[in-house]
Amino acid sequence: IPAPDFDLVLFGATGDLAQRKILPGLFHRFAVGQMPPAARIIGVARSKMDATGFRAQLEKSLAAFAPQIAEDRALLERFLASVDYLRVDVMGEDGWKDLARNLRPNVVRAFYLSVSPSLFGVIASKLSSFEASTAESRIVVEKPFGHDLQSARALNADLRQGFKERQIYRIDHYLGKETVQNLMALRFANALWEPLWNATHIDHVQITVAESLGVEGRGEYYDKSGAMRDMVQNHLMQLLCLTAMEPPSKFDPNAVRDEKVKVIEALEPVGPGDIVRGQYRGQNRQGGYHEQAGDPNSRTESFVAMKVGIGNWRWAGTPFYLRTGKKLRGRASEIAVVFRDPPHMIFPKMEHRRGNAMIIRLQPDEGITLRNTIKEPGPGGFRLAEVNLDMTFADALKEKADPQDAYERLIMDVIRGDQTLFMRGDEVEAAWAWADPIIEAWEASNQMPEPYDAGSSGPEDALMLLHKEGRRWREIA
Ligand code: NAD
Repeated sequence: IPAPDFDLVLFGATGDLAQRKILPGLFHRFAVGQMPPAARIIGVARSKMDATGFRAQLEKSLAAFAPQIAEDRALLERFLASVDYLRVDVMGEDGWKDLARNLRPNVVRAFYLSVSPSLFGVIASKLSSFEASTAESRIVVEKPFGHDLQSARALNADLRQGFKERQIYRIDHYLGKETVQNLMALRFANALWEPLWNATHIDHVQITVAESLGVEGRGEYYDKSGAMRDMVQNHLMQLLCLTAMEPPSKFDPNAVRDEKVKVIEALEPVGPGDIVRGQYRGQNRQGGYHEQAGDPNSRTESFVAMKVGIGNWRWAGTPFYLRTGKKLRGRASEIAVVFRDPPHMIFPKMEHRRGNAMIIRLQPDEGITLRNTIKEPGPGGFRLAEVNLDMTFADALKEKADPQDAYERLIMDVIRGDQTLFMRGDEVEAAWAWADPIIEAWEASNQMPEPYDAGSSGPEDALMLLHKEGRRWREIA
């Protein structure tokens, strides 16, 4: 879908995220012809430099983060020609008038805030008071959106100083992932699954986001956050919502988000016996969380596993197990929907039977696997075997493939004015309202997270969380 003409103002344009993800993403969209020829990107940051200096910096980043297309010199030059730079210290008064004057009337105006959340308020109110923004402009903000309910409310209030909810785009890049969107297509564009998509037929759901890397250079930042704030409250919550939500009446941003909020509001409190926190350890006091975070007494969790109940008609009695961690044995994100056994088994008992499941893989190899039971071929009696029906999106849709990074997709949605894949203010607040008591109870206790070996599947107690209920986690590949 082509995008309308736009002026995109990127605050924090010299920063890591802008140079590594946002600008290379825009370059990709430019290369496939999705960026209208007159569209402009205006980088804003504190650094003293002019447009030529900024383009030189950007050229280096594009060579590193979009190497294939950056080789095309003519294409690169055309893209750089659409990029401008303005120096504005957002805390001061200088530069804002130039910015407002620089923007064209009658094209989409988007302000992307790739800066610390502490600057959201001042930027939103100055954009409005210097009349750089109009009632139709859009404002885009990055994670983290608060570290608890109170701070999230304050950020919402900051943004609302100059913008209405319909103008605000809160990014959770998980929602830009192709498979995550496919979850909606899978559920609501097929007649096959929806009749089974409830507690009567689904035994439980497992949502895993496993990382093989540790906190590496981000130790100090991560130590203030931990897995619960960094991953569960946002990314895993989004996956849970899309898996559990009721079918919206139409594919419309507010209809979809209304249903997601209802799921969050139906989440049951998580008791101490339903959650396990872990922290990875290295060998010989090297490479463990404590060494990387720089605090030998840190109680911050680098792993969390929990059982979550959804108290509504559809899901009563079907637990959702969430698990995420760093320094695990593999890097894999997936949602596994595990079905109940047939009501009456007429065949001999099969050893290690795991039953029907639908596994939605977010990475690696985005795709879907359906685990089925069939007869083992051959004359040796009637034995059952489990086989996978596998679909990798890259293979299934080869000709149509226009591989987009999550950021590219989301930025173009901002330009098109589609908020479906962005979190609404009340949704973020509801997710914090659920997470806060879990985090507070933990912080009030004196417990240490359970240690686990780097490169393992996480702490022993996380395995027990399912074992004690006769279930087991899928292996992290
Ligand atoms: P960064 O420190 O690399 O860059 C910050 C940018 O903000 C720089 O361009 C700097 O010039 C600008 N800036 C700072 N103070 C300013 C001021 N007073 N006036 C004008 N410009 C100012 O940060 P980053 O890593 O690019 O992160 C940006 C935001 O994105 C943060 O909120 C971060 O939490 C979020 N985020 C980053 C990543 C990532 O991978 N880097 C991932 C997810 C979210």
